[in-house]
Amino acid sequence: MYGGRAMLLTNARVIDGTGRAPFERASVRVADGRIVEVESAVDSMGTVAEDAIDVQGRTVMPGLIDAHTHLSSDISRSPGFGPPPALHGELPRPRELGYFVLAKTARVLLAAGITTVRDVGSYDDEAIALREAVRLRIAEGPRILSCGRIISATAPGGAIFTTMYREANGPDDMRKAVREQLRRGADYVKLMATGARSVLAEDPEPAQMTRDELAAIVDEAHRLGVRVAAHVEGLDGARLAVSEGVDTVEHGLSLHREPALLAAMAERGIVLVPTLSTFHDLAERFTDDFAPALVEQAKRQLEEAYATLAAAREAGVSVAMGHDSGPPGDNAIELVRMVDGGLSPLEGICAATFGSATALGLSSELGTVTAGAVADLLVVDGDPLSDVRMLCDPERIWMVVQGGKVVAGDPRAPALTPA
Ligand SMILES: [Zn+2]
Repeated sequence: MYGGRAMLLTNARVIDGTGRAPFERASVRVADGRIVEVESAVDSMGTVAEDAIDVQGRTVMPGLIDAHTHLSSDISRSPGFGPPPALHGELPRPRELGYFVLAKTARVLLAAGITTVRDVGSYDDEAIALREAVRLRIAEGPRILSCGRIISATAPGGAIFTTMYREANGPDDMRKAVREQLRRGADYVKLMATGARSVLAEDPEPAQMTRDELAAIVDEAHRLGVRVAAHVEGLDGARLAVSEGVDTVEHGLSLHREPALLAAMAERGIVLVPTLSTFHDLAERFTDDFAPALVEQAKRQLEEAYATLAAAREAGVSVAMGHDSGPPGDNAIELVRMVDGGLSPLEGICAATFGSATALGLSSELGTVTAGAVADLLVVDGDPLSDVRMLCDPERIWMVVQGGKVVAGDPRAPALTPA
């Protein structure tokens, strides 16, 4: 691991995450884990220090931030990533194997250039355990924000998602559920404004909790200083979530049907996390694993999700990258899909960096290559503005810096020769 105190990246194309055009032949100076300055001229940086790394024209951009992920060691959405299920006759797999899968997930995410993730629901408190392992430097991984357990009205999803949920009913119980999540160490709160598309017994169209219940969660969370993410599919839930002032709308696929809601989101700074990949999963990837009615529903929802992304862009809504799929490390495919869905490559990169940081409430700290920001950086071998797909290619992830330390792709390794 490279030393953490000071670093100078020279000869870089810098995409700073703010939406500005890239700087060519720029230098990025890092000290004590933060970006000190970004200079567009090479020679203004003075003498070349021994901590300099010549990136030889490669692209330096903010580390990617996945604003909607499920880190849980339930790897059913990522076949082949964890251990295969036990065969009949084999001893059951120890439950504790899950923690090793979590550690692998964290390492793989970081190597893929994902320097921060927001976990939006894991079984038991696995995301919190992993967050602590990373924070205490027991495991290498992205910085993690966890919602604790998802707050849902009593619903069929509770029977399927078990310990990922905290079912609650009535405004007082909703407030208690918020307090419980903070007690277990949550960084923010997530609620189910509507049912889930992946649960046959739930209709994702109507609101699943009442206005009073949703308002109580938002009020309690904001009163205590944490943000609120709302799972939203149908319009009734979208109306409740937006009017009661949640901070992020997850999925939000119906929003294109009511432009006034998108206008309100733009005005209030509510971020949309479109999660296109999860609709691809249900509509295309796991069609044999889900009830046929859900697969048909997902095909309609996939089209709606793309329509909403385009409408949100038109309306000026902030957009974040949320993969909501697997396997870990493939997260940037969501960025590619957002570009396929109408964002420019620069807009897509901004969504996956500054946009996601905004969703997390951390845009002053994370998601940009600007003076003062935390030095979470991705060095890409090529120009992702010419083809964002290269962000999905492990060969192109040349170096990853987290908090000013090289955590993947040490350029001093002998195997790396000039491009
Ligand atoms: Zn999700």
